[in-house]
Amino acid sequence: MCHLQMNKMMYDIEQIRKDFPILSRKIYGKPLIYLDNSATTQKPKCVVDAIADEYYSVNANVHRGVHFLSQQATELHEQSRETVRRFINARSSNEIVFTRGTTESINLLAATFGEAFMEAGDEVILTVMEHHSNIVPWQLLAMRKGIILRVIPMDDQGKLRLDEYGKLFSPRTKLVAAAHVSNVLGTVNPVREMAATAHAHGVPILVDGAQSVPHRKVDVQEMDADFFAFSGHKVYGPTGVGVLYGKEDWLDRLPPYQGGGEMIQSVSFGRTIFQELPFKFEAGTPDYIGTTALAKALDYVSAIGMERIAAHEQMLASYAMQELGRIPGIRIFGEAEGKEAVVSFLVGNIHHLDMGTLLDRLGIAVRTGHHCAQPLMERLGVEGTVRASFALYNTQEEVDALAEGIRRVSKMFNP
Ligand code: PMP
Repeated sequence: MCHLQMNKMMYDIEQIRKDFPILSRKIYGKPLIYLDNSATTQKPKCVVDAIADEYYSVNANVHRGVHFLSQQATELHEQSRETVRRFINARSSNEIVFTRGTTESINLLAATFGEAFMEAGDEVILTVMEHHSNIVPWQLLAMRKGIILRVIPMDDQGKLRLDEYGKLFSPRTKLVAAAHVSNVLGTVNPVREMAATAHAHGVPILVDGAQSVPHRKVDVQEMDADFFAFSGHKVYGPTGVGVLYGKEDWLDRLPPYQGGGEMIQSVSFGRTIFQELPFKFEAGTPDYIGTTALAKALDYVSAIGMERIAAHEQMLASYAMQELGRIPGIRIFGEAEGKEAVVSFLVGNIHHLDMGTLLDRLGIAVRTGHHCAQPLMERLGVEGTVRASFALYNTQEEVDALAEGIRRVSKMFNP
């Protein structure tokens, strides 16, 4: 209790919750307890309003028009790029490429980096805890080009084995691609250290920031990531928009990804001259409404303060680990120190789907299954887990309700 009171003084959770209209919904007559934030986060009203406002009063295609609306829409779109730049502390807005999300960002990199810099027998180092979106694009490249994947193992706590990481480099290593934070275990990987090791071998690193950007201050320069990907919808922004950050000298050396409008300076049937960065990678009409709304979401979390959000979520993480840890027969996957507020678990031999379905009846939304990380499930020796993942608007009372819900479901199976 004391914890909560102290917390209220520093972080006005009631006020924050009012910004998210969906949180007052009832599910099966019970207050919604939304704990599926790693899959996607809910949206504050200002983000949804930004979408409607732009459609109602500014809408026009960007970059091509001399007319007022087009220029205004372009300005909003380019200001959003600057907001993203500032948010992750990139050197230049030329380093911010808008995509549809983390998945497209990684596919863009795999396709272009693969084309420019990789040939049969070259190697990419991944981690055992990658999301499928940071595995399958490299496997497609393996099928097309014969590249080889090397995998950093982890210990039983869910920490990467950095001693093994160093041993995976060879003269054929061309790239390291690693999650900043695991969407299943909550482990925060030491990407700065991993980048330093990669650079010592003359190799760039891609960091998948889908699960870090919403929860902690990210500084791509401090991290020294060569590439960094994230999705708007996981950081309280809209679906369908995301970012690929790349150091300018790397992006300059990559070929275009898709061809079309926006990414060219001039086209004739004989020859096309491509646009400068970042437009070279942005073929077609961008989701300029989405980028405005993404910038609104980043402004929203910045106004609360990423450090304060991280502190609130760290409190929830340790409280959830403590309270869930007391439940008889529970197995929690991922116990690395400083982990993010994600708790994957199984109780006794209750199937994850049964647990998820019954928790849903109590108004508690969790995710069940392999969480798009089947190789990690194999490492854990399970087919799937139940996952509760927290966000800036979750409360200690919701953790209590989750723990109580799990106990109730367990009793149904083991009276
Ligand atoms: N990487 C990680 C670590 C993720 O958690 C996710 C989403 N679950 C993704 C990549 C893919 O993100 P998106 O579906 O938004 O492209």
